[in-house]
Amino acid sequence: MTERIIPYWKKEIETASREVLAEIQLMGLKRQIENALKTPFYSEKFRNLGLKSGDDIKSLDDLRDLPFTAKDDLRRAYPYGLLACPRHDLVRVHASSGTTGTPTVIYHTREDLDTAADTMARSIFAAGGTSDDTLQNMMTYGLFTGGLGFHYGAEKIGMTVIPTSSGNTIRQLKFMKDFQTTVIHATPSYLLYLNEMMENYGYKRSDFALRMAVTGAEPHSEELRQKIQKTLDIEVYNCYGMSELNGPGVAFECVFRQGMHLWEDRYIAEILDPKTMEPVEEGEVGELVVTILCRNAMPLIRYRTRDLTRFIPEPCPCGRTHRRIARFLGRTDDMLIINGVNVFPGQIEEVLLKMKGIGANYLIVVEKDGALDKLTVQTEVTADMFADDSRILNKLKENLRAELSALITINPQIEFKQPGSMMLSEGKAKRVDDRREKM
Ligand code: AMP
Ligand code: ZN
Repeated sequence: MTERIIPYWKKEIETASREVLAEIQLMGLKRQIENALKTPFYSEKFRNLGLKSGDDIKSLDDLRDLPFTAKDDLRRAYPYGLLACPRHDLVRVHASSGTTGTPTVIYHTREDLDTAADTMARSIFAAGGTSDDTLQNMMTYGLFTGGLGFHYGAEKIGMTVIPTSSGNTIRQLKFMKDFQTTVIHATPSYLLYLNEMMENYGYKRSDFALRMAVTGAEPHSEELRQKIQKTLDIEVYNCYGMSELNGPGVAFECVFRQGMHLWEDRYIAEILDPKTMEPVEEGEVGELVVTILCRNAMPLIRYRTRDLTRFIPEPCPCGRTHRRIARFLGRTDDMLIINGVNVFPGQIEEVLLKMKGIGANYLIVVEKDGALDKLTVQTEVTADMFADDSRILNKLKENLRAELSALITINPQIEFKQPGSMMLSEGKAKRVDDRREKM
C-alpha cells in the first residue's frame, strides 16, 4: 500500500501532548466560566453554587461539580439569556434544525466565527481537502449551520466553493459536471439520492471528477458509508457537529477514517452514562457532554448533546493527539423502547444495508397494537428483486425478519415498498415514525 501524506492544518496544536492540551483546556475553562458569569442564565446558576470567578476553577476535575446545560435551558433562555458580550459585538445568529417550538439559537462575535472557520478548515484539511479542490456544499444555507459553517472553513483553505445549498438535484448534477466538482458536503441520505439521480438523468460516472464526500447531520452506519463509497467510487468522511457547538467540524475523520478526532483544544468532551451522568469506562458507549472553549458570545458549560458515542482509546496512526470518537449509535432521545426492549434505529439500518435485495430507504414505524407495541420496518427492495416472483420476495421477508429479531430481540413486521418510492430529495431523512404518543 502506498503511504499517505498526512495533512496538518496546524501541526503543533493537532499533535500537542496531552499535558499541553490539558493546560489549554484549563485556561479555556476558566475563561468560559468568567464569560458565563456575565450571562443572566449562568450567573444565577453559578452564584447559587458559590462560583464567583473563573479563578475558582483550580483543575479540570472541577468541571465535574458544575451543572449540566440542556436544550430546554437554551429554549428558556431564548432569545438573549445566554449572551456574554455587548449586543453590538454580535455578527451572526444561527439556529438548530427542526421546526417545532421555540428555536435553539446561537450567536457569534466576529472572533467566534473566525475560530469556527479555522476549526472547520482544520477538519477538512485533515481529511485531505486542499486549495485544488472544488467543493459543492449541498447542505442547507440559512439558520442551519451545515451551509455557512462549512462554507467559511472551506474558503479558508482556499477551496473553490459552490454554495448550491440543498435540493435542485438537476442543477447539482449539472454543476458537478460543468465545474468538475471534486468534493461534496451532504447528508448520507442525499448522497444516495444523488447517485440514483445520476443514473436517471443519463450521466456516467466518468462525467464527474468527484473524489470525496463529507457527510454528517444524521446518524448513519459504517455499512452505509461503505455502500456510498462503493456506488459513487469516492472516499466518504464522517463529520460531527451541532449548531449549539458552532456547527459542523466539532469532530472529523482524518485520512485513516477510523473515528472522528474531537478537537480538544476547543472543546472539552465527557462521555457519561445517561442514567447516572457519571463517566463511563474509557471506550464504553455513553452520552457526549461538551463544554465549548472557543466562543465568546455564548458560553455553554457541560452541554448535553444526547448523542451516544464512545472514545476510541487507541492512538490514531495519523499522529494527532486529540481523542477520536466513534460513529454515533443514535441519541438518548431517539432510542426506542418497544415492549420494554431498547432498540436503536442504527441497529436496524445495519441489518437492512447488509442484506442483498434490500434498497437504501426505509422507515421504522412503531405503533400500539392493543396493549402491546408493534414494530414495522418499511423498506424498499432493489429493482431486480421487485421484478422477481413473490416466493423469492417472501423468502427475503422471512430472512430479514429472522436477522432483525436475532439482533433486536423483537419480531418486526416487514413491509416491502417499490424501489424509489421512499426517496427523499432534500433535508434530513426521517427514519422513525413513532405513532404511539398520538394514539
Ligand atoms: P443540528 O443542531 O441541526 O446541527 O443537529 C445536530 C445533531 O445532528 C447532532 O446532535 C446529532 O444528533 C446529529 N448529527 C450531526 N452530525 C452527525 C454525524 N456525523 N453522525 C450522526 N449524527 C450526527
Ligand atoms: Zn487520525
